[in-house]
Amino acid sequence: MSIKKYDYLIVGAGLFGSVFAHEMTKRNKKCLVIDKRDHLGGNVFCEEKEGINIHKYGAHIFHTNDHEIWKYVNQFATFNNYINSPVSLSKGKLYNLPFNMNTFYQLWGTKTPKEAKAVIDSQIKKYGTTSPQNLEEQALSLVGKDIYETLIKEYTEKQWGKKATDLPAFIIKRLPVRYTYNNNYFNDRYQGIPEGGYNTIINGLLRGIETKTKVDFFANRAALERVANQIVYTGKIDEFFEYTYGKLEYRSLRFEHELHDIENYQGNAVVNYNDVQYQFTRILEHKHFEFGKQSKTIITKEYPETWDQGKEAYYPINNPKNQEIYKKYKEASHTVKHVIFGGRLAEYRYYDMHQIIASSLKKVKEISKMQ
Ligand code: FAD
Ligand code: UDP
Repeated sequence: MSIKKYDYLIVGAGLFGSVFAHEMTKRNKKCLVIDKRDHLGGNVFCEEKEGINIHKYGAHIFHTNDHEIWKYVNQFATFNNYINSPVSLSKGKLYNLPFNMNTFYQLWGTKTPKEAKAVIDSQIKKYGTTSPQNLEEQALSLVGKDIYETLIKEYTEKQWGKKATDLPAFIIKRLPVRYTYNNNYFNDRYQGIPEGGYNTIINGLLRGIETKTKVDFFANRAALERVANQIVYTGKIDEFFEYTYGKLEYRSLRFEHELHDIENYQGNAVVNYNDVQYQFTRILEHKHFEFGKQSKTIITKEYPETWDQGKEAYYPINNPKNQEIYKKYKEASHTVKHVIFGGRLAEYRYYDMHQIIASSLKKVKEISKMQ
């Protein structure tokens, strides 16, 4: 093998690429990280305005059950004690999320778990099924008709641009149902927002490592492939293989950011909008992620959109057709020995941040063992 300038060319400065670069640099490997965007950090990137860290690509709340991952991220930032407790607006009324005793009280006036359970069980009996075939059937079988119609159906259909009866059941299993007065959106042991925003973590990971932004791997593929012995690729897997087996589909989002000359716009970091009369699904008010006291505020409306080639790919559409296509790319990925595929786009999977960090660390360990 000829001597190349770098051990690794890392395509994509998101969490997967940044963790990989950090760990390999610690092991005395020479890394170059490139990203086609004009900033580092991928989707966790924050932009600071008016002293507020704006989550540019949607609300990012770090949560994990894994003590090692929690320790890992705490090397790079101090986490605050933010607990995600969104509320949802439906037909003029606000409800607590996830579905818990507060939500049940707001819906039916039930005060004890026994009373709430009786309502939900009777609705599940009437509308549920033992083998749900789609998201609607799954929701009716988990929480009954009232919650489904008040807090799930319209939100979900906006989010995915499809009827709930045409969506896979698993999407809704992410949301906890609890018979306690607990508005914590997540069940994990550790949770918070890094003080100073996510850039603190990315900057910590990439400190001392050569990075280049506004460099698209495909604009100069042949030359870039020559600079390193190995490539870590975190972009879209179908693009890497020039769409040989067809295009994978995604759901996209459009973010509209607004500056308001008031201190407090909605009193919470995340407010969901269930009703279809609003085209957006959520409004974020960024200062509340860090308990900000600034005199102004910045909000973001999140509009789900049909994805096409010119837009950011946010959510994989995990239906059988796309899984079939992905399987072929996955097989093809085994044939290019000098390329490591990782992250949400290369693995065509919805991954949370802690899962991405864990998978990048695992990859580094596997490779280091072989060397
Ligand atoms: P990315 O961050 O997408 O990084 C990939 C990078 O590769 C990008 O910067 C891209 O520009 C670059 N790239 C792609 N192709 C090329 C190319 N050809 N040349 C050069 N560069 C290229 N997780 C949580 O844990 N909690 C949350 O609350 C949460 N909220 C989320 C909300 C939204 C709306 C979304 C979409 C995701 C959310 N996530 C959340 C998930 C989180 O964003 C991901 O787990 C994480 O950012 C994925 O990191 P990654 O490195 O795999 O991908
Ligand atoms: N969901 C819903 N109502 C809500 C919030 C979420 O029906 O108020 C559904 C929706 O189908 C969504 C899924 O639950 O796609 C997962 O929600 P989550 O908040 O985890 O989505 P993400 O933050 O990943 O977009």
